[in-house]
Amino acid sequence: MSQLRAFLSNRVVTAEGVRPGAVLVESEKIRGVIKASDVPADVVREDFGDSVLLPGLVDSHVHINEPGRTDWEGFDTATRAAAAGGYTMLVDMPLNCIPASTSVAALEAKRRAASGQCRVDWAAWGGVVQGNQQDIEPLAAAGVLGFKCFLVHPGIDEFTMVGEADLRAALPQVARSGLPLLVHAEVPPPVDAATERLRDADWTRYSTYLQSRPDEAEVEAIQLMLSLCREYGFRLHIVHLASAQALEILRCARADGVAVTVETCPHYLHLSAEDIPAGATQYKCAPPVRGRENRDRLWEGLRDGVIDFVVTDHSPCPPQMKRPSEGDFRTAWGGIASLSMALPVMWTEAQRRGFGLTDIARWMAEGPATLAGCTRKGRLDGGYDADVVVFDPEGEFKVTGDRLHHRHRVSPYLGEKLRGVVKCTYLRGAVVFQDGGFPGKARGRELSTNTG
Ligand SMILES: [Zn+2]
Repeated sequence: MSQLRAFLSNRVVTAEGVRPGAVLVESEKIRGVIKASDVPADVVREDFGDSVLLPGLVDSHVHINEPGRTDWEGFDTATRAAAAGGYTMLVDMPLNCIPASTSVAALEAKRRAASGQCRVDWAAWGGVVQGNQQDIEPLAAAGVLGFKCFLVHPGIDEFTMVGEADLRAALPQVARSGLPLLVHAEVPPPVDAATERLRDADWTRYSTYLQSRPDEAEVEAIQLMLSLCREYGFRLHIVHLASAQALEILRCARADGVAVTVETCPHYLHLSAEDIPAGATQYKCAPPVRGRENRDRLWEGLRDGVIDFVVTDHSPCPPQMKRPSEGDFRTAWGGIASLSMALPVMWTEAQRRGFGLTDIARWMAEGPATLAGCTRKGRLDGGYDADVVVFDPEGEFKVTGDRLHHRHRVSPYLGEKLRGVVKCTYLRGAVVFQDGGFPGKARGRELSTNTG
């Protein structure tokens, strides 16, 4: 019989609230969360005192870029950054890697690339692109957790965007799989028209980039997807919602019983367009970070539940692709890498707005796990994996390059003072991050619909 251990804390974050208790761990699993006074005498105790115990975070929106673009990121660096940020599971997006995960053969290549490198657990989304509808059901059978598509050019040419006709070819298969379809919801016409209008504008100004990706691009895309969702009856998930103008349509659709869920990202909740300096392309992402008032309305969307959860959209690139010397928002790669910093960014902003640690756990652990259909992650509760984050919510620090563990230390958060320090991360009962280091072997493994 394996040895029982008890992780004690005065602040254990459960779905019911934050309370003193003991997380009882047996091998890789949580046996239960009990009162400290109920821990049997022969159990090994690790007392974390006033440090908070959070469930390991789950990020269902990460671009790991391996195989094929390992010079951008990779399983080793992405999963280190994740462990340092309190994440114990990542779900990898199907693009930016070469080959893109749009066929079973490509998925198998990704599995070979990941093998033996991962510090946390991972899983894969499959891609829906032009003409791959025959790959959808084989990918589902091979274990992807769902699918991702783009309604606008994704910035690379190997992963084609889809229009309504392509979607109509693919959606019956997606619906039959029972798996969610994650959609990058911007349509080209408003973006193309605005970009053309701004041809001679000053592209080192953030406001030019912001105007080139107007709210209507998101709103029109979401309207199209909601109508297809009603028609085909698949599970629709809107990734990285940035425009608060879409909240009312989504609220109505949900009230009508449409199967749609919504995520947003820490950068949309923390940053604002007014504060982005000229030439600061480390802030570029798509859809763009919008204005302050929009940001406050996204927080209202989280408060009333129209937005289900928060993921990073971690999407790094080599530093020169951000065009730092020209500061040109038109040609710089769009993507913000934040796996190591998402929890402190969110906590800094959330506690200021009156939210608590149970909200953080719901948005950053349970919500993304639910989208991924992963019933073993996302909560501190009996039967779940013993994925535990030891967190100091009062600690403050300044973001420096040595705290970012992804491959290239580009970040809009550098130099910022944040609140909330990840002290230690446990993956299935073993320490994978502690005080800036990564002890032990790479223990992370793939979780698929076949392996659980
Ligand atoms: Zn993304």
